[in-house]
Amino acid sequence: MSVEIAKAHSLQLDDYAPILGLPEIHELRSLAERLKGRSVQMVNSTAVGGGVAEILNRLIPILSELGLAIRWEVMTGGNDFFEVTKAFHNALHGGAYEARPQNFEIFQRYTEQNRARLTLDSEFVVIHDPQPAGLIDARANHSGHWFWRCHIDLSQPNKTVWSFLEPLVSRYDGAIFSSPEFARQLSIPQYLFYPCIDPLSEKNHDLEPEFVHEVLERFGIDSKRPILTQISRFDRLKDPLGVVRAYQIVRRYFDCQLVLAGGGAADDPEGGVVLAEVKEAAGPDPDIHILDLPPWSALEINALQRASTIVIQKSLREGFGLTVAEALWKKKPVIASAVGGIPLQVIHKHTGLLVHSVEGAAYQIRFLLANPAIADRLSQQGHEHVLEHFLITGNAKRYLTLFLHLLDSGQPADA
Ligand code: UDP
Repeated sequence: MSVEIAKAHSLQLDDYAPILGLPEIHELRSLAERLKGRSVQMVNSTAVGGGVAEILNRLIPILSELGLAIRWEVMTGGNDFFEVTKAFHNALHGGAYEARPQNFEIFQRYTEQNRARLTLDSEFVVIHDPQPAGLIDARANHSGHWFWRCHIDLSQPNKTVWSFLEPLVSRYDGAIFSSPEFARQLSIPQYLFYPCIDPLSEKNHDLEPEFVHEVLERFGIDSKRPILTQISRFDRLKDPLGVVRAYQIVRRYFDCQLVLAGGGAADDPEGGVVLAEVKEAAGPDPDIHILDLPPWSALEINALQRASTIVIQKSLREGFGLTVAEALWKKKPVIASAVGGIPLQVIHKHTGLLVHSVEGAAYQIRFLLANPAIADRLSQQGHEHVLEHFLITGNAKRYLTLFLHLLDSGQPADA
């Protein structure tokens, strides 16, 4: 399936000039000059939900405006496929997993189906994450430049799953990781690309205070009392139960509310079960707001982040955690687990606070609620940090420089 990005995203590169400065925009245009008309395909496993879809939704229009002939393909699969790939995902993040031969067969079967369905004949092909990694089989006679963009933390992968994946990954021309910590011993070159947010997307652009207020009213949230928020898919690795427990500790000292907002992703079949667990843990507390949001809730999420007193990201494992960058961009104090790519964003006591446990999270929430001046300083510094490192234009620049490097390296693609 090719994804057509809605025309509502009619943002132009020039719109970013007030944020980035014109020289940055000129640099992007001049880097793209020699890449005009070059074909690129990006492939992932969902068009909605989760950080990868969030990035591609904005990266692709930007690279397209810069003149690249870019297409976004989504791998399709049945529930059996996504159950297997979600289990692989958890296992690659280091979770225990008893892989059975039939799991690998399911993976191979859908890879084969998608290989037959998709025409991956572009000069540059970027395959995102493990689900479509097997599509390297679709590469004809070593044509094109093929990259595997891994968005997950591979520092301690389950050995069985990684030994299945590694031979596939090794056939790419390079692998791109989100943090130096995630790099593996591989026979191919490895690159570091930070994930990124779009400051002008519906998820992140400025909002009128009236709209923020209206969203709080709609969800029955009191704007006068502190609001603690975690925005995440209902996924055990995001530790929503840990967030509820941290809030319950804080609640003994502060009259505050908790918002847990998240929807599903098409490639994540576990959401419903986890949501039910969270509702049960929350019990009848009217100050816990569990919001199961549809995929078109970018403005609502933006408003909830802006309305928050503190944003929490208590993940047990994390690839990067775009929600952290989103909150920092909105100048929100962030308390987040020191896992995966989060420490790249939250520099302890400089751009936020890192925690290692439920008790630690509760302690730091209490600390920031009691010290708003410190919270303000952290959030201001957090915003600057995102401006410097984690905006979509920086990510576009990384891709342009990679593609230019390949053109100049004397290995022209045959495609
Ligand atoms: N998100 C969303 N709706 C939800 C939950 C999350 O739009 O109900 C967004 C969130 O704002 C962020 C992305 O999905 O942009 C999640 O990316 P992240 O890297 O935090 O986690 P992932 O889901 O990829 O593990």
